[in-house]
Amino acid sequence: MITRVVDMEGPFRSPSFLMPDATPDAFAATRTSRDPRFYNPATNELIFSFHSLIVQTPRNRILVDTCVGNDKHRPGLPEWHLRKGSYLADLTAAGLPAESITHVFCTHLHADHVGWNTRLLNGRWVPTFANAKYVMHRKEVEHFDHVRRTSNEAANHRSWDDSVQPILDAGQALLVDGDHEIEPGVRLKCLPGHTPGNCALCLDDGRQRAFLIGDTIHHPVQIERPQWSSNFCGDRAMSAKTRAAFVEDVADTGAWIIPAHFAPPSAVQIVGEQGGFWYRTDQK
Ligand SMILES: [Zn+2]
Repeated sequence: MITRVVDMEGPFRSPSFLMPDATPDAFAATRTSRDPRFYNPATNELIFSFHSLIVQTPRNRILVDTCVGNDKHRPGLPEWHLRKGSYLADLTAAGLPAESITHVFCTHLHADHVGWNTRLLNGRWVPTFANAKYVMHRKEVEHFDHVRRTSNEAANHRSWDDSVQPILDAGQALLVDGDHEIEPGVRLKCLPGHTPGNCALCLDDGRQRAFLIGDTIHHPVQIERPQWSSNFCGDRAMSAKTRAAFVEDVADTGAWIIPAHFAPPSAVQIVGEQGGFWYRTDQK
């Protein structure tokens, strides 16, 4: 079972803000531009969600991506700056209180995927999920450690300091290599490009498959335009290649694709259509 708990959602920036190839004409030519669930033509804004996905198996509760978080100092982005959202209460209301989470997995270490790793307690950042192992890909940790050591700017909104380092200091990080298996049927798969250690969580219960892919596909329009990488992809060419191969791999397999930012219904199946690709959102 997969539960979605939202940190923020709604209209968020224009297509070309996210994807430089999505010029007004190019975006207007897509089918997705006519899907009001994912685009508001009146304001020229994409509809976005920032959510966690909690996977419950008989053994574990695995929380994927920890969104923006509360109280984080993000002066570069007003919507994220010093937020006071109801995420923790919403988790509890969903029957998934923070202390019941066994694993946290961030698909990558951008600021909007690590925020709720920590919360502010008596002026200190402490792990939000006190009983969880935080699964992180070693390559991703090494990359962002290097970035924050070598960059003079507020790299990645300085999220390392308030949302990653405290997890390492608390001894709750589990650094993994390759396509790590958390338990049978639950494993990581590296999909590099958006970031060097970007990974998906792949679920297979023998009946259905699902891929929780973070920002490998930011917005549904990238299913019909897999070559459109985002401005936030570290390596845009590799990201496009990885995305195109992924879309082709999962098309027409019946697998559910659940990215980190798709607005409701948030889960899609990819289908081949008219020489390209499209999405279906029929609920199970
Ligand atoms: Zn993101």
